[in-house]
Parts: sequence; C-alpha cells; structure tokens
Amino acid sequence: RAKAMGKARHIVFNASMHEDVQSSLQLETDLRRAIERQEFILNYQPIVALDTGMITGFEALVRWISPELGFVSPGKFIPLAEDTGLIIPLGEWVLREACRQLNEWQSNNVTDIPLTMSVNLSVKQFSQPNLIETIDQILAETQLPTQCLKLEITESAIMENSDSAAKILDQLRDRQIHLSIDDFGTGYSSLSYLHRFPVNTLKVDRSFVCRLDAADDNVAIVQAIVTLAQTMGMDVVAEGIETTEQQHQLENLGCEYGQGYLFCKPVNAETAGEMLANRNHKLF
Ligand code: C2E
Ligand code: MG
Ligand code: MG
Ligand code: MG
Repeated sequence: RAKAMGKARHIVFNASMHEDVQSSLQLETDLRRAIERQEFILNYQPIVALDTGMITGFEALVRWISPELGFVSPGKFIPLAEDTGLIIPLGEWVLREACRQLNEWQSNNVTDIPLTMSVNLSVKQFSQPNLIETIDQILAETQLPTQCLKLEITESAIMENSDSAAKILDQLRDRQIHLSIDDFGTGYSSLSYLHRFPVNTLKVDRSFVCRLDAADDNVAIVQAIVTLAQTMGMDVVAEGIETTEQQHQLENLGCEYGQGYLFCKPVNAETAGEMLANRNHKLF
C-alpha cells in the first residue's frame, strides 16, 4: 500500500510541476503580447507628510489589465518580466508615462507645489548599460525637471551590480535625480553601501510597519532605521500604513513621510489629478 501511495504521489508531483511550467510559459506569451497591445496602465499612490497630510509626490505602480486574464497583480508578472527581459521595454514605458503624467499635472497648473514622482527600477533595468541614456532621453522628451524624479531600487539592485552601481548612482546625483532604497531592511545586512552611494531616501518596508501597533521588536527596528537616516541626512518614508496608530507611532519615532491605504490606495491618473486639484493637496 505504501508503495502504491508513493508512486501516486510521484505522479502527482510531476503533473503539477508540468502544469507550473506550462502556465508560466503561457503567462510569458500573454505578457509579451500585452506589451505589444499596450495593456498596461499606471496607478499612483500619494506619499504624504505624516504631520500635515500634504501630498509630497506619488509612487507610480504598474497595472496589467488583460482582456483574457483580467487584473494580473504585479507580484505575479514583474518577476516574470524580470526573468524574461520583458521588464526592459515595460520599465521604459513606465518611466516615460510617469514622467509625462507629472509634467502634465505641473504644467496644467493642476498643482503649483513641486511634486516628486517615484518610479520603481528592477535589478535588470538597473544593470542596463544604457540606463542613464534612456533616462536622459525620457526627461528631455517629457520636459520633466530632473529633481522631480525619484528612482526606487532595492538593496539587491546595488549589491548585484556593485561594480557599475557607483558610477550609475553618481550620474543620477549629478542630474539631481533622487534615489530611494525600497523595502529597506529586508535585504542585505551590510549597511556599508549607504556610505559609498548617494542615497536620499530609505523606504521602510511594510513588514515592519504592519505590526507597529503591537508591542513588538518592529518598534526598535523602525527606530534604528530613522536614526540611521537622520545621521546620514536621508529622508524616511514608511510604506503600507493602514491605521492611525501606525501613523502616530511612526511620527513619534521621527518618521516624516508615509504612504498606505490609510491615506489613499493607488489610484488612476484621473483620480490622482482630481485629488491634487480639489483637496488642495491635503489628504487629511
Ligand atoms: P513596492 O515598490 O514596495 O510598492 C508598494 C506596494 O505596496 C504596492 O503594491 C502598493 O499597492 C502596496 N501598498 C501600498 N500601501 C499599502 C497598504 O497600506 N497596505 C498594503 N497591504 N499594501 C500597500 P503593488 O502595486 O501590488 O506592487 C508590488 C510590487 O511590484 C512593488 O512593491 C514593486 O516592487 C513592484 N512594482 C510595481 N510597479 C512596478 C513598476 O512599474 N516597475 C517595477 N520594476 N516594479 C514594480
Ligand atoms: Mg516601490
Ligand atoms: Mg516598497
Ligand atoms: Mg514593498
């Protein structure tokens, strides 16, 4: 009996592996076609000053709305886009569209306060030899002032490209393009790169924010990140704020900026534009 079961399990395992490979191949085909058919839109999530509720800028977040599959979450297709290299054309589109959108808001006087646009860069994009050239071209094309752009990269993007990273980051700094470290605290334990590179902002990962209202070690971790940032002249943005307790706790810990469902979910361009125009930039 045991033998029979073992055999059965063996077959099931193979079948499901086969299914995984099949479905990821299918998704790759779908993704390739989606890029051709331009099935992507950008959502924008406000980043606010925690004390005043003023919107300081937005993070652009890509959305795939597939006629066949419906809404596909970035957690599912971004890693695949990375593996297949499709992130290069997709990421370039995201960057261009986000810059174009902010410049449209600023030049139509939807807003008269200088805002920033944060755009996520994947590890693969960060290792493209022509990254700076692409960014220069997009900024020239969209007319967005360089200091409005913030690029979000993870610690691994720096560590996995440590030879080229310094040069790229120096070139970004020369252009006054800001650099944020995304999901800070979840990656490498080495902090020495912070000294070597011109980093402007640390984004505290949501996993540290979500349990802040419980008595938890996360308080000490967030405190350490804020102190580190202050010492090195960097800003701190907390991601994933969902409760007023978390907001106040973060303020008490000296964190100045945040984003999260408490203030606003990622919204489409129209809604974001209306928020700027009607609410006088304030979310609370
Ligand atoms: P991320 O850059 O850390 O973005 C923050 C994620 O947290 C977003 O998920 C956002 O919708 C979500 N979020 C914001 N506030 C809250 C909250 O209060 N509660 C909860 N539960 N979640 C919150 P999203 O849009 O699904 O994106 C997931 C990840 O996909 C992003 O994480 C980023 O790594 C990647 N991604 C999204 N758009 C792009 C893009 O255009 N390019 C690249 N390379 N990656 C992207
Ligand atoms: Mg991000
Ligand atoms: Mg993040
Ligand atoms: Mg995150």
